[in-house]
Amino acid sequence: MINLRSPKEIEKIKASCAIVRDTLFMLEDLVKPGIQTIKLDKKAEEFIRSKGAKPGFKGLYGFPATLCVSINDEVVHGIPSRRTLKDGDVIGIDCGAYMNGFYGDHAKTFQVGNVDTKVKKLLEVTRESLYKGIEKAIPGNNIGDIGFAIQEHVQEYGYGIVKELVGHGIGEKLHEEPQIPNFGKQGKGPKIKPGMCFAIEPMINLGTERVYTKSDDWTICTEDGLPSAHFEHTITVTDDKPIILTK
Ligand code: MG
Ligand code: MG
Repeated sequence: MINLRSPKEIEKIKASCAIVRDTLFMLEDLVKPGIQTIKLDKKAEEFIRSKGAKPGFKGLYGFPATLCVSINDEVVHGIPSRRTLKDGDVIGIDCGAYMNGFYGDHAKTFQVGNVDTKVKKLLEVTRESLYKGIEKAIPGNNIGDIGFAIQEHVQEYGYGIVKELVGHGIGEKLHEEPQIPNFGKQGKGPKIKPGMCFAIEPMINLGTERVYTKSDDWTICTEDGLPSAHFEHTITVTDDKPIILTK
């Protein structure tokens, strides 16, 4: 079942989304060569708690931290550690917040210092594909239209679309129905209706689409070791255009 949220419920999701949006803006200034990712995590947790919310990921399915931090070939679900960022790295930061019974979910991939042109392009195209997908979240369309738009945008660059991980419905749970793959067929999948809330999140690799899970049982990495990008917004479907709640 896909939940249709009332305006009151959407306001609550929006409040949690505003916190994750502000968390990522706050972290952007700290993402520099030399910083340990555990430090970013600490700052994020303090910030989220100072707003009266709880970190959305910490403890969920046993994840140990506030942020997922995924560097270079790490696609998603990296665990913050003493590892320091280096010039030329890219780091995907994924953040969730929970407040008043509802979640917000948001991710961006940041550049650390001077990043290779090819990798910059990967980030740009992945970010664009997120917006292409969001545009399709309108009444009358199907979930497959979202994935199709993302796929159509990235495939001309020869990038690998991660198939094992998907976007999702969001609300009282972080992950609700439906699953929202970053590939798909037009007109396929559940019908999109006003009041639905989605986290749309393309995970796009510079090289192969194939991934594996590291020995920490969390971090997903590209099989060829080439970088990956991840951008995510929480949105709500209206009678008209979708509203990005994490913007
Ligand atoms: Mg996320
Ligand atoms: Mg998500």
